[in-house]
Formats: sequence, structure tokens, C-alpha cells
Amino acid sequence: MSKPTVEEFTKFFLDEYEPASQPIEDEDAIPADLLKRAAHAGAYRLTIPEEHGGYGLSVTDYLPYLEGAARGHGSGRMLVHLTNGVWRPLARFGNQDQRALIPKMASGAAVVAFCLTEQSGGTGRNLQSRALRAGAGWRISGEKHLITFADRADHFILVVATDDRQAKDSLTAFLVPRETDGFEIDATQHTMGLHGTGHAWLRYSGMYVEDRFRLGEIGQGLEVALSFLDYSRVSLSNCMVGLAQRALDEATSFARKRVTFGKPIAERQAIQTHLADMYADVEAGRGLVLKAARQCDAGENFTAAAATAKLFCLNMVGRVTDLSLRVHGGFGYTKQAAIERIYRDARGFWFEEGTAEIQSLVVARHVLDA
Ligand SMILES: Cc1cc2nc3c(=O)[nH]c(=O)nc-3n(C[C@H](O)[C@H](O)[C@H](O)COP(=O)(O)OP(=O)(O)OC[C@H]3O[C@@H](n4cnc5c(N)ncnc54)[C@H](O)[C@@H]3O)c2cc1C
Repeated sequence: MSKPTVEEFTKFFLDEYEPASQPIEDEDAIPADLLKRAAHAGAYRLTIPEEHGGYGLSVTDYLPYLEGAARGHGSGRMLVHLTNGVWRPLARFGNQDQRALIPKMASGAAVVAFCLTEQSGGTGRNLQSRALRAGAGWRISGEKHLITFADRADHFILVVATDDRQAKDSLTAFLVPRETDGFEIDATQHTMGLHGTGHAWLRYSGMYVEDRFRLGEIGQGLEVALSFLDYSRVSLSNCMVGLAQRALDEATSFARKRVTFGKPIAERQAIQTHLADMYADVEAGRGLVLKAARQCDAGENFTAAAATAKLFCLNMVGRVTDLSLRVHGGFGYTKQAAIERIYRDARGFWFEEGTAEIQSLVVARHVLDA
């Protein structure tokens, strides 16, 4: 399957996916046909290495593709963002059977969900889910929530504690098949925006999992999670740039058309200031993302650059979508305006894979250690 150009890829998400997205907004699920068309457009194989059936794009080369998808419907960019990131823990830590899933992910035949967050309290080392040795396997008990695409995933990267020390090496990851006995998936966790992204609660009490389903060594769970999350900060920041650019495009086009007191509002200095502020914000975000991506591709430590990009872009996408809504006037608050959905989708970024407060901790540590 030949690699699409950035223009072809963006055109698919803006001219084919988004116009077909009303059922997603209404029913909070992506139609099977649209998922197939996204696979045909190459959405799932951009960064997957060629040896696993992907196009093997570097993070830097991937950015314009992802930005194109992120200008469209939130569920479309989530398909691209997640699939092009979640193969990484499998490639690095997986056994032969687990790695064999990667080509299937590239074609859209397999979907893997990443499961860390717990409603009952506790993140990172503080997880409440526990795996206890049981003969040749494990008994796992606990719950997760807000798990993206859990409605359709066939495998789940489940990060749980294997001892009570809350130490760096107290967590272990498992790649749990959907059909495992005692694995309950309740995909009715509907979100404010990002409709179609299939969030769910997962519940498991004494669920038996064979040791061959362990992903990585015992105690390597945090590393497994970070092999997805570190990279993911760059990818998500880029999604914020794409959505903010779309909010700016919508505001610009509306300001040219909307006439009040005999003149298009685009000719009013107050509106021009809004557009200029939005433009500067988007450009600054794009620059920070590019810096983090280049460090990542060069094999350098990019943790601080990625957290800085994410911290800035989180605030940036909030400011830009606020201003875009204001430029639209009351029309922007109706379902007929694209900014109404864009505004809701943008709020998901506050929480997805780590909040601004947590990015601040990472950035502050970098500043204080310098
Ligand atoms: C659209 C979307 C998709 C998601 N997809 C997934 C997924 O696929 N898999 C998955 O595992 N999770 C997923 N999540 C969950 C997401 O990763 C978490 O919501 C996020 O990491 C925050 O954790 P929390 O909700 O437990 O917030 P909490 O940890 O309860 O935080 C509440 C508030 O306290 C602040 N806070 C918490 N701890 C500290 C601290 N130590 N210092 C300072 N402030 C602190 C937080 O910043 C936040 O403001 C998704 C969430 C959303 C909205």
C-alpha cells in the first residue's frame, strides 16, 4: 500500500471523514465503514516500522499528517494518534506473539487500548489494581476507567501493581485479550466531546491471566507505560496544534463573512487582535512540538521538551478555541457551527494522558535541575 501525501491524507480527514461524522456525534460510535476507509487512507500505519507493515515515518515526518487529521473530527485524530503510538510498547517489550499484533494494527484488523487510569484513586505508582501470582499465571483484580476505544479494542495493555511498595519497579504490564474470562468492559462512559472514541470502565476481580500475556518483565510496567506516554506527549501536543489551527481557520472565515454595522467584522481592530493572538499562539505551539519531535528522532532525552510542548499547547488550545468561539458570536454556541464541536473536543486535551499540572511538575523539575 503506497504512502499518501500529507495533502491526500488531510483531504481524507477534512473532505471525507468529517462530512460523514454526524452519526458519530449522534450515536457516539464510529461506523464500521468509516473505520475501513480510514485504514485504506493509511491512518493506522504511518509510524509503524516497515518491517511490521507500516510506512515507518519518523516523529518529525509524522507531524504534518497528524496535524491534518487533527483539523477534522476528534474521533479521526484519535484513531491516528492512538494507533500510531500504542504499537511502541509492543515492539519494545513484546514477545513474538505480542509483536505479531503490530501488522494487524497497521491494517486496522487489531485494536489495542492503553489502560492506566483508575477512578478509585491513584495514578502512576499509586495504582490500586493488583496482580498476584497464581500457579503459572496471575490473578488480577481492580478497575480502570476512561479507556479510549475500549468499545472496540481486542487487546488491552493493562498496567497494575505486583507489590505494595509503590516503588518504580512495583508495576507490571499485561496484554489482556478482550475475551478473557472475568474481564468486564462497560463502554457507556460518554464524554463531553470527542464523540466516537468509545470510552469505558474496565472491571476485573480475580481474573486469571496466563504468564505469556505479561508485557515486559515483572516490575517493568512503568517503563512500558512511559514508552507510550513520553512519545505521546509530542503526538498529543501536535493534535492540539491541528485543532487550534482549525479553530483559527473557522474564526477567519466567519470574520470575513459576518457583516455588522455595514462592515465585515474582520475589518474591526478588536477582531484582528483576536486573530493575531490566535495565530501567534498556534505558531508558537507548532515550534515547540517540532523541537520535541526532532530531539526524539535524534535519540536525545526529550522528556522536558515534550512536557514543555504539552504544557504550552494545553493552555494554547484553550485560549484559541475560546477566542474562536467569541469571534463567532452567538452563532458559535449553536450546533450548526463547527466551533461548537471543536470547543468541546478541545476540552478533552486537559486530561488526556496527563494534565497541565503534571506537565508543570516535569518542566519545573527540569528548570530546577538545570
Ligand atoms: C479524552 C480522554 C481520553 C483518555 N484516554 C485514556 C486512556 O486511553 N487510557 C488511560 O489510562 N486513561 C485515559 N484517560 C484518562 C486520563 O489519562 C486521566 O484523566 C488523566 O491522566 C488525569 O488523571 P485523573 O483523571 O485520575 O485525575 P486526578 O489524578 O484525579 O487529578 C485531579 C486534579 O488534580 C491534579 N493533580 C493530581 N495529582 C497531582 C499532583 N501530584 N500534583 C499536582 N496536581 C495534581 C490534576 O492535575 C487534576 O487537576 C483519558 C482521559 C480523557 C479525558
